[in-house]
Amino acid sequence: MAAKIISGVEVARQIREEIKAEVEQLKAKYNKVPGLVTILVGENPASVSYVTGKQKTAKELGFYSVQDDQPADITEEQLLALIDKYNKDDSINGILVQLPLPKHINETKVLYAIDPDKDVDAFHPVNVGRLVIGEGIFLPCTPAGIQELLVRGGVETSGAHVVVVGRSNIVGKPIANIMLQKAKGANSTVTVVHTGTKDVGHYTRMADILIVAAGRPKYVTADMVKEGAAVIDVGVNRIGMTPEGKAKLAGDVDFDNVKEKASLITPVPGGVGPMTITMLMKNTLAAFKNSLGIK
Ligand code: NAP
Repeated sequence: MAAKIISGVEVARQIREEIKAEVEQLKAKYNKVPGLVTILVGENPASVSYVTGKQKTAKELGFYSVQDDQPADITEEQLLALIDKYNKDDSINGILVQLPLPKHINETKVLYAIDPDKDVDAFHPVNVGRLVIGEGIFLPCTPAGIQELLVRGGVETSGAHVVVVGRSNIVGKPIANIMLQKAKGANSTVTVVHTGTKDVGHYTRMADILIVAAGRPKYVTADMVKEGAAVIDVGVNRIGMTPEGKAKLAGDVDFDNVKEKASLITPVPGGVGPMTITMLMKNTLAAFKNSLGIK
């Protein structure tokens, strides 16, 4: 059986259309739009490119968007004061501090200073706790994107055995917690495997839905996958350069062979990756609606 290949580019485009339409409706009713500030410290080229992408998407969706670039020598105190300013600013619903920060600044302290209701990356411990008890206003962006791909790909999650490879705080643990919830698009039986697991293949072969976030190129081979499983490949690994001088990417799954066995699979690039910025926008919209008391 050849798998259905789910395009994250296409799903992300659909979600952005929906967000844009909702922003227009809310603007007509409340005369307000969601506000997102990105705070970039220094000029790390990768960070500049990420922030530019987020700003561009926010503007396309009709958001009020503020790009607050700060010099690399900003002090921790000044940065905390800046966050406090945006915490108190009613026109801002989402505060995004682009990581990494320079070494003289304590990243944890900075991220924890963001008002949890404006923490659209959803990394604040309050939001981690809300997610675990099933009361999240928004979910961390990459895991939320994975869930959207499953739901919009028509995968039945309720009663499915989900196996997650990886237990990081940004992908593995949150997606495991999301799929565990007694909720639509979840209600799964969840197993998490990691480097301490004795026989990873024993568990992955039992998965109806296999989510791989290990950061190991082509780690999951066809013999580790059950016939007909839905496979979500989160990995992004640089494995060389293309003749045009661009980075050559591979996922954590041996795509060419696994696609012959799975029922659904996401490619790398073009699968989970394109969902992340879109889910950030969805979170900013959710924070905006939360501030207006809309469920
Ligand atoms: P991470 O922090 O390095 O965590 C990797 C996890 O995988 C760890 O829990 C590790 O186990 C586990 N692991 C590694 N090798 C393994 C093996 N051989 N068998 C079983 N488990 C293994 O990585 P991450 O931040 O979660 O990211 C994972 C991948 O997703 C990376 O390739 C990253 O680039 C990609 N990613 C993509 C997006 C996106 O597309 N938007 C976003 C985030 C991450 P231990 O805990 O035991 O060490």
